Amino acid sequence: MHWNLDLPFAGTEIRRGDLMLSMIMVEDLWKSFRIPHEKRETILDHLAGALYVLEGKRYRYEEFWALRKVGFRIEHGESLGIIGPNGSGKSTLLKLVANVMRPDRGIIEVNGSLAPILELGIGFHGDLTVKENALVYGVLMGIKRSEMRKRIADVLSFAGLGRFQDAKLKNLSSGMQVRLAFSIAIETNAEIFLVDEALAVGDMEFQKKCLDKFREFKKQNKTIVLVSHDMGLVQSFCEKALYLMNGEARMFDTSNKATEEYLRDVKERRNQANGASDLQPRILS
Ligand code: ADP
Ligand code: MG
Repeated sequence: MHWNLDLPFAGTEIRRGDLMLSMIMVEDLWKSFRIPHEKRETILDHLAGALYVLEGKRYRYEEFWALRKVGFRIEHGESLGIIGPNGSGKSTLLKLVANVMRPDRGIIEVNGSLAPILELGIGFHGDLTVKENALVYGVLMGIKRSEMRKRIADVLSFAGLGRFQDAKLKNLSSGMQVRLAFSIAIETNAEIFLVDEALAVGDMEFQKKCLDKFREFKKQNKTIVLVSHDMGLVQSFCEKALYLMNGEARMFDTSNKATEEYLRDVKERRNQANGASDLQPRILS
């Protein structure tokens, strides 16, 4: 991981003097990654590379901006949908808000307790059992160990994993692992839930169970930040949506406006692609 330490990191300080603090406030957020490329400059490098002599030794790095200048604000009781094509920076943004990664630059204020349900595998250990994982993950999410022990049966029952409690986690399907992560997150008393596309992995029955829970949470004025490709879900759950495109905020608006814009762009790109292939036979003939 590469941190550009020359740039200022504003951290997560809470602005004093603000009477109404936003639940989440993100301003001018930038995040870069280094992508390695094999360095082959001389003919010898190319020959050595082909023969694997220099394997793993000579790389140059390209700086890649996964997020640029991103900002948004979510008020108390509001939920946010994050939409956009694959690779547009949605998971990166969620990880920054969850504080599992640091930005190169920008401000992230989170004024409430968080329960992140991020990409599969974050926070889990394949060689521990389902029950052990649940205990560790619960504690990571801020539930006291003694409390988690009391609630473990409920967690496993909600996840439908009671029978598998002593199985190693790595032997569970990805859908089953997501069910476990969800069921633990739901047990926390968090005010903000960060959900990264995870819902889509669970089966339909489990999705419905989770959505019912989230509806309950919304009634309690909790905030849900939902990365999803399901525009209907974003529209019905989230007041606001952030549409990311190539790491930039293409639109931050009401969920209706942002999802419509995204759908319009998708349609336009599809038309352009179809147009291009329509041209092909005419040019050839
Ligand atoms: P999304 O969730 O919208 O599909 P991501 O946030 O996962 O997109 O990724 C945004 C971009 O950042 C992608 O091009 C991805 O390859 C890159 N990226 C994400 N995480 C890393 C990492 N740890 N190292 C290098 N590149 C990364
Ligand atoms: Mg993602």
